Amino acid sequence: MKIKSAEFVISNTDFRKCPAGNRPEYAFIGRSNVGKSSLINMLTGRNGLAKTSSTPGKTLLINHFMVNNEWYIVDLPGYGYARRGKEQREQLRHIIQTYILGRQQMTNLFVLVDSRHEPQAVDMEFMNWCGEHNVPFSIVFTKMDKLGRDAGQRNIEAYKQQLGETWEELPPIFITSSQDGRGRDELLDYIDSINKQ
Ligand code: GDP
Repeated sequence: MKIKSAEFVISNTDFRKCPAGNRPEYAFIGRSNVGKSSLINMLTGRNGLAKTSSTPGKTLLINHFMVNNEWYIVDLPGYGYARRGKEQREQLRHIIQTYILGRQQMTNLFVLVDSRHEPQAVDMEFMNWCGEHNVPFSIVFTKMDKLGRDAGQRNIEAYKQQLGETWEELPPIFITSSQDGRGRDELLDYIDSINKQ
């Protein structure tokens, strides 16, 4: 899919105030610092569209970006930021869960996982929560340029194995790097194929 336009539309904490209309929404989520903003910029080819920040986990906002006047990229707040207080974590959980479960336009959720780490409990729990609630989602491994082929592949296999213990069928998996553009065509083609259904 060719990206003809991509622009920021609105930020919200409440999914009921998200844009009206029934354009499909593709939401991106992951732990703070996983590389979400970089991936959104890489996919749209617009550097600086989503902010990349050196202070992880500051924002609690749901950000909508309109692409090609046809569909939205939705940038969800990062989860699992350990330094947050209990109250803020609870607020974050509420914002994320009400959007994912309540927003009918939410077509697919991309769960970003840092390929440098072995399976992390907070990511596994989140994916299991998605499964329990029948949320359509895919896994996107980020920062693959930072690892040698073998190490990256090992971590991905470890995730697959852990998920395979509880799941009969694994979700689609994408391997990406915002640095070298790996996975861009695959992700955009996947979104395109769903839009055309
Ligand atoms: P976010 O908090 O999930 O939005 O993460 P950011 O996109 O702000 O990225 C966090 C840090 O990881 C930044 O320093 C990025 O430059 C770096 N980063 C993100 N994606 C990649 C990638 O694909 N490769 C490399 N080498 N670094 C990345």
